[in-house]
Formats: sequence, structure tokens, C-alpha cells
Amino acid sequence: MEEKSREFLNQLLLTPGATGREEAVQEVVRAYAGGFADSVTTDVLGNVIAVRNADAPCRIMLAGHCDQIGLGVRSIDADGFIYVHSLGGWDVQNLIGQHVNIWTKNGPVAGVIGRKPIHLQEPDDRTKAAKLSDIWVDIGAQDREEAEAKVALGDPITVRSFVTELENSLIAAPATDDRTGVWIVMEALRRIDAEKLKCAVYAVSTTQEEEGYRGAKPAAFGIHPHVAIAVDVTFASDCPTIEAKRSGEIKMGGGPVIERGPNFSPILVERLCDAAEKNGIGYQLCANGRPGGTDACVLQMTREGAATGGISIPNRYMHSPVEVVSLKDLDACADLLARLIEELDENVSFIPHV
Ligand SMILES: [Zn+2]
Repeated sequence: MEEKSREFLNQLLLTPGATGREEAVQEVVRAYAGGFADSVTTDVLGNVIAVRNADAPCRIMLAGHCDQIGLGVRSIDADGFIYVHSLGGWDVQNLIGQHVNIWTKNGPVAGVIGRKPIHLQEPDDRTKAAKLSDIWVDIGAQDREEAEAKVALGDPITVRSFVTELENSLIAAPATDDRTGVWIVMEALRRIDAEKLKCAVYAVSTTQEEEGYRGAKPAAFGIHPHVAIAVDVTFASDCPTIEAKRSGEIKMGGGPVIERGPNFSPILVERLCDAAEKNGIGYQLCANGRPGGTDACVLQMTREGAATGGISIPNRYMHSPVEVVSLKDLDACADLLARLIEELDENVSFIPHV
């Protein structure tokens, strides 16, 4: 991976952006895309849209969501402890023992999510799974008044950011779902050969995916794409407890995962596979019977419909603070999208036929 691209990835992973409050991470996206896009705009939902070749008749939209699962300040008790609501789907067990930041209007306030020490737990406590209502954030405040002077109801909370390098080009970080998708769509936009580009390409860092694809939907309406591809993470099966027979056989480092199923244009799927084969990019297929789970769900149904694709990045420990991806997969996904787009123009039809 090129140094500048890697630096962009690190910045994406180290900048907070809980669902609905993606301003800081979108600033990172704007700064990077501004280096190569013809234009970079931000809409009222906070989506950042980077465009090349906007005047071409065929429009392609690439979507990676920049929001990460987080928490929000729900209530503060008399002793200054903060109770939370969820933003996106957490396994609460993954939150216990975490360092967090509460993003207030005056900047971050540090906190921790603790639990009753094991010595004091009843045998029953040790086997029961904690619920969201069982946990609290401790910022060290002495009482409600002191906590209220620091944080406000509705302030977003994220687990502390870090990037850990593992063996074999794997990295672990919170929010690889789906900052890596944002990285891929922006890198794909940058990597398209200008001489081969015959379409208008809109790379979008979408907001609020984790709470119902709420950024991608209006962004797609505005762009009105003929072809729309969502890039997100999927379950790698090459780790303990993930059953390949249930979620498909997906390997870390095995390359882009091309999704097949009713959410995806069969013609586009074929083109993605062809582009991978022609360019020596290893890929994996995933059967996905039910629309939903990524921005692809709403991209397909925008306006009169768009030929939709889904590219997934193999991921371990999804929706946890230690989500693992392979840098090799990220590079290969960006290359695949760039090579696919270089082959498209307004004469390619995606109308299904026998
Ligand atoms: Zn996601």
C-alpha cells in the first residue's frame, strides 16, 4: 500500500464519527479527496461526495459509510454516572472494560465502562450477559451537577481509537466497519486511469448507515446513478466460531467479496468477476439472499432503480473494538473497482434479459 494511502487509512481509523455525528471524519475525507477529485461537496445529511468527470452521461456511485457504531448520553444519575443508548448494534460484552470518549461541544471527555469486580460477583453474575441498561460510563464526576457541566444529553460516545498491526498485513481497529469502505471508494476514484474514464464517478462517504442507511438514500437521490456499488465489511469464516456453512467460506486476504443475490444486478456481478479475472485480482463470492445490512439495500431502490453491486471486505470480530481486516484486501478492492469503472460507458446496458 502506498504511504500516502496508508496515512489516509490511519487518519480515517483514528478520527471519531458515531452515527449522526460524522463531521470530524468527513473533514479527513474532504482533505484527501480534494487532492484528486474534480469537486468535493457535502450535503445536508453530511454525506461527502467526491466526483470525477461529472459531465459524462453515465453516472456511477460508490458508497462506503463513514459512521461507526457508538453510544449516546441517555441520562445522568445523582452520583454523576452516565447511562447510554446505542448507536448501531453492539454486543454489550464488548463494551465492558473499554475506554471511551464523549464528544461534547467543548471537545472530548474521557470515560470508562466498568463492571462489578469478579470477587464481588454472585455466581449468577458471571454467567449472565450484560444488557445495555446494565452498563454506565464513569467520567470521574462527583455528582450529576458536575457531570452535566461537562456533557449534554445526546452527546455521542465512541470507544477509544487505535490501530494495531497484526501479522500478515492484518490490522485491528474499532470502526474498520466501515472506514475501510470509505478508504476503498476514495482510493478507487483516485486510481481510475483518466484516459480510460468515460463515466461520471461519484465516490460517497455516506453517513448514518448503522441506523438504517439514512445517508446513502438521499445521496443516491441527488446523484441519480445508473450504477451504484456499496462497499462494506462481511464475516470472514477463517476464525474460531464462524461457520462457513452458515455465512459462506470467506478468507482474510482472499480478496474482494463479490455479493450475489436479489439486491445485486446479475450483469454487474458478472462484470465485477470479469474485471477481477482480467486483471489478476483474486476474489471471493458470497451468496446473500436477503437485501439489507448495507447501503446497497437503498441504492438499488433509488428513483427508478440502479444496477447495484456489493463489494465486501473480509472482517473478523465485526461490531467490536477489535475489528480485523487485511490491508491486501483493501488494496485489491480499490483496484477492482477502478478497473471495473474503466470498462464502463453509457452503452453498457444493465437491463436484465435472458
Ligand atoms: Zn458497515
